[in-house]
Amino acid sequence: KLVLRGVGKRFGERHVLRDIDLDIPAGQFVSLIGPSGVGKSTLLRLVAGLEPPSDGRIDMLSRAPQPDIRMMFQEDRLMPWRSVLRNVTLGLRGRDAQARALLAAVGLAGRENDFPVVLSGGQRQRVALARALIHEPELLLLDEPFGALDAITRAAMQLLLEQLLARQPRTVLLVTHDVEEALMLSDRVLLMRDGRVARDLAIGLERPRHRGDPVLAALKEEL
Ligand code: ATP
Ligand code: MG
Repeated sequence: KLVLRGVGKRFGERHVLRDIDLDIPAGQFVSLIGPSGVGKSTLLRLVAGLEPPSDGRIDMLSRAPQPDIRMMFQEDRLMPWRSVLRNVTLGLRGRDAQARALLAAVGLAGRENDFPVVLSGGQRQRVALARALIHEPELLLLDEPFGALDAITRAAMQLLLEQLLARQPRTVLLVTHDVEEALMLSDRVLLMRDGRVARDLAIGLERPRHRGDPVLAALKEEL
């Protein structure tokens, strides 16, 4: 379970995040949407522990002494001088078989010895996803992971993520500009405005998938 209490972040005079209170139960898939510059990436960095909050506190309540948190970005951040396989096993020993299985699961069987430069953007994001999942992180932070992909590749990646999470449930915090992606993938959508969580919407099992849906219409109005 992820708990945020009164979290705020300032950069000098600029107050980017204010008064964020959140409880995210284990296994929940939460999407974070909101206009550019509202502080979505900043919030993810705080949760990842890459930066400290200026106010409040963030706790990851877990049975594990050191809960693993992995982050994935819009750009793949692979190491160009390491093969696909060695990017996935980065920092791990004796995990080649598991890495190969994961690469097969993301559709990259046979590409283990290629270098990132010869892969397409979508394929590189698949490697980045495999690299995050091999750690079986308790919390997966995704900052517009499919934002740079074309619509067809993005749809394939959304499906892939859904399938992988069905096999291996995780708590996920996804930042996206794509309202329909948020509705399709998540249990809950947080809409940010002025550095705060302005709306907190539960998405039912009957997930809206149509443009005319009232939840979708309400969200688009907010944006
Ligand atoms: P986008 O949708 O464009 O990615 P975002 O919601 O992710 O936007 P952030 O990247 O979190 O927005 O940035 C929020 C605000 O915080 C911006 O005004 C940005 O300039 C500021 N900011 C972020 N990081 C820093 C930093 N290290 N130093 C100063 N200001 C920062
Ligand atoms: Mg951002």
